[in-house]
Amino acid sequence: MLIDGHGRVVDYLRVSVTERCNFRCQYCMPQKPFSWVPKENLLSFEELFLFIKVAIDGGIKKIRITGGEPLLREDLDKFIAMIYNYNNSVDLALTTNGFLLPQCALQLKEAGLKRINISLDSLNPQTAHRIAQKDVLDAVLKGIDRALEVGLAIKINMVPLKGINDHEIIDILEYSRDKGVEARFIEYMENDHASSQIKGMHGREILEVIKSKYEIHKIGRSGSSPSFAYRLNDGTRFGLIDPHKHDFCESCNRIRLSAEGFLIPCLYFDEALSIAQYVKSGDIEGAAAVLATILKDKPKENRWSESQSSDTTQSSSRAFYQTGG
Ligand code: SAM
Ligand code: SF4
Repeated sequence: MLIDGHGRVVDYLRVSVTERCNFRCQYCMPQKPFSWVPKENLLSFEELFLFIKVAIDGGIKKIRITGGEPLLREDLDKFIAMIYNYNNSVDLALTTNGFLLPQCALQLKEAGLKRINISLDSLNPQTAHRIAQKDVLDAVLKGIDRALEVGLAIKINMVPLKGINDHEIIDILEYSRDKGVEARFIEYMENDHASSQIKGMHGREILEVIKSKYEIHKIGRSGSSPSFAYRLNDGTRFGLIDPHKHDFCESCNRIRLSAEGFLIPCLYFDEALSIAQYVKSGDIEGAAAVLATILKDKPKENRWSESQSSDTTQSSSRAFYQTGG
């Protein structure tokens, strides 16, 4: 079992397979970065897998593949199959913008993927274009349908933004309900890489919008899930991911691995340690030692929560597209 310096069990690893993306979401990567990480600095799937085996053997039970846009990385299905074949009881999931799903949902399912979270910030083509800075909606909606068709369990992620898509919170909730899937509303997390024009919504504001049409009931956080679950009277469930809330980090069970091999203990902070040299030389003990240090030093809580108590907005300097969102 992996336990951090604050006594929390860590059993969830998020693995970013690329920082590159085919969208330029204003809250994440509004401009193309000055330069991409050179391809030769990326760990190969074999190298990432070597660490993943160490992590699974240590106690990781859930792995989410993310990015950047993970579907841009060639042979992703083979990587998924490597993990699945190593231990098929690991809860294996993926987060994607959905754009390439029409072409690859079946391969991913056949490789052993069980669940996908798909980002859908708007049902209006112009608004979706405004956020992603590309004409994306049609492909994403087709991707959602294709994922459902091949039998993947899906959730829809929306980041509500003031003055941009805040009037679509109920539309996304109802769209998800009609598809039989759960919507999850994510508070915008202030970070230095986002467009300075962006203003997010607090969880309580998101709930107020939903309450303007529906009665809602608290269900609670299931285990260490970052999402707090609610339901409507008709049984429709939805989730709220609210990292500005003071107790959000109490049950944090997550660490992250970047495509270059940085092990990152918290999405907010810059701290990270590289496992690259160890996995490149097959040094399992070396990689395990870095993991132990990261766990020991995992911060107690992010600093977005301070925004709630002090009215000052704290901004992370971590790029979400590098860290894996
Ligand atoms: N490209 C994929 C996608 O968009 O789903 C996976 C990577 S993305 C970084 C993972 C998740 O992080 C997405 O749901 C995205 O909406 C969310 N995200 C990115 N930047 C964010 C921010 N500043 N605040 C809140 N959520 C953010
Ligand atoms: Fe790309 Fe996802 Fe970031 Fe949007 S949120 S720019 S799709 S990595």
